[in-house]
Amino acid sequence: MTIQYDLHSHSVASDGTLSAADLVGRARVAGVDVLALTDHDTTDGVAEARAAALRVGLILVPGVEVSVSWNGLTVHVVGLHVDPANETLERGLCGLRAFREWRAEEIGRRLEKAGVPGAHSGAKAYAQGRIIGRTHFAHYLVECGRAPSVRDVFRRYLVHNKPGYVPGQWASLEDALEWIHTAGGQAVIAHPARYRVTATKLGRLIGEFRECGGVGIEVVSGSHSPADVQRIGAVARSTGLLASRGSDYHGPENPWVELGRLSGLPADLPAVWDSDPWRAAQTRWRAA
Ligand code: AMP
Ligand code: MN
Ligand code: MN
Ligand code: MN
Repeated sequence: MTIQYDLHSHSVASDGTLSAADLVGRARVAGVDVLALTDHDTTDGVAEARAAALRVGLILVPGVEVSVSWNGLTVHVVGLHVDPANETLERGLCGLRAFREWRAEEIGRRLEKAGVPGAHSGAKAYAQGRIIGRTHFAHYLVECGRAPSVRDVFRRYLVHNKPGYVPGQWASLEDALEWIHTAGGQAVIAHPARYRVTATKLGRLIGEFRECGGVGIEVVSGSHSPADVQRIGAVARSTGLLASRGSDYHGPENPWVELGRLSGLPADLPAVWDSDPWRAAQTRWRAA
């Protein structure tokens, strides 16, 4: 039987809606054998996920999804097998979380000016004292009837040229990869088909990513269409990046992304889990 890998998922430690333990339980029931918890800019949920994984017989990969600014673009880089106790990584992520706190206040001020009061405290209530992001604002604005769905809130309020948009100043690509590598991890470009870039610019991003030691790219993602899988599969083939597969699951409210439903990787592509660094990291993590 083939092992089912899902190397991208979220819990309440960032903008997911399931606890880390419930996420792991649901993944196991859905047939996932190896799950990476990759919350935005935090490894807070990893200990809980790991304990739950031991109980239900699933292999948990400790991970993180780092927010990066690259040439005016926000890019997400997934770190797999990062040691949550690593101080360099933690210091770096701590800086990103401080920016998130300030940005959340600024989003609140801008929405207030646009006639939407109370959004900062509303979003904070959804974040429950953990990391805060635009998704928490979206949940609150749906709750007060400003839009019918999270997607609509993003479209109307939270993206470029909309009243609640605040440009991000996230980590540089170099720094993000240095933190991931110092913490023993492998770096993977998340959901590449989501970035609004030309093939040339994506090629430049990948070139710099590889120069910094990045090894993988998500070919199969919950947000990729079959055509995206083909296109990014070809990119992986031509650049030599290892292929990864992750749902980017955020919780049962998003019915269009479910655990255990991803298609397989194109058969000829070398997978990130078939590499020596992956096997070495698995051995280290099991012994830790
Ligand atoms: P942030 O890192 O706080 O800027 O928020 C980014 C997160 O918002 C992503 O990881 C998604 O979970 C969510 N997101 C971004 N764009 C959309 C969208 N158009 N519709 C729904 N959720 C979105
Ligand atoms: Mn998210
Ligand atoms: Mn992402
Ligand atoms: Mn994600």
